[in-house]
Amino acid sequence: MEAAPEKLEMFYEGKAKKLYATSDPDLVIAYFKDDATAFNAKKRGTVEHKGIVNNRMSELFFNLLEHEGIATHFVRRLNDREMLCKRLKIIPVEVVVRNLVAGSMAKRLGRTEGEVLPFPIVEYYYKSDALDDPLIIAEHAIAFGWATPDQLRQINELALRTNDVLRGFLDQRNIMLVDFKLEFGRFDGQVLLGDEICPDTCRFWDKDTHEKLDKDRFRRDLGGVEDAYQEMLRRVES
Ligand code: 5GP
Repeated sequence: MEAAPEKLEMFYEGKAKKLYATSDPDLVIAYFKDDATAFNAKKRGTVEHKGIVNNRMSELFFNLLEHEGIATHFVRRLNDREMLCKRLKIIPVEVVVRNLVAGSMAKRLGRTEGEVLPFPIVEYYYKSDALDDPLIIAEHAIAFGWATPDQLRQINELALRTNDVLRGFLDQRNIMLVDFKLEFGRFDGQVLLGDEICPDTCRFWDKDTHEKLDKDRFRRDLGGVEDAYQEMLRRVES
């Protein structure tokens, strides 16, 4: 295996991760923190070992997706909390795929959480903390230059394929993939899947009991957050 490039200065600190430049201008190191925030950082806390779980689970899912032909920014996991990634030019559109009604969709449209959707629904949100990531339509992204029509077509297709792959994998582990958020970026003229895929960014429910095994335990003060993250890691590694 090639030696990891040298870790240089931190150039970005987000709510859950820090990003470091490296001696290779095309690569960055993502460091996964235990800090947890919700409701655009109005609620803050820590979830012990969360960074380790999210790093490992993202590695596992990115490898699975790459194996299925979905190009991602993942290069390799370096240690418990660090991942080597391609440096993306982030497209400021968050993509949510939903299989069941939950969270903001239940609230916005007055539907019951747990209602099964007749087909997966892809939603776009403008990535802006100042505006609380508002729901947008594709035309907003095109009109304001956040993404081109061709990039949006690719993003839509990649998001739905990602849903198919993850859903099948999780179903075998008795987990329902309720919904999840993806981010994409440009690298070398290609659209790649970026960010992380973990209990912070997905809703995972036990298929039999509908027990929540994701960040909703933190958001909604349900308790047992650390145990839920560990249980999810155990299931995806089995
Ligand atoms: P909702 O729109 O219902 O709040 O979220 C839908 C799905 O996308 C959930 O799985 C949620 O975890 C994820 N999601 C949406 N926005 C964000 C965000 O800003 N940060 C994180 N970590 N996840 C998000």
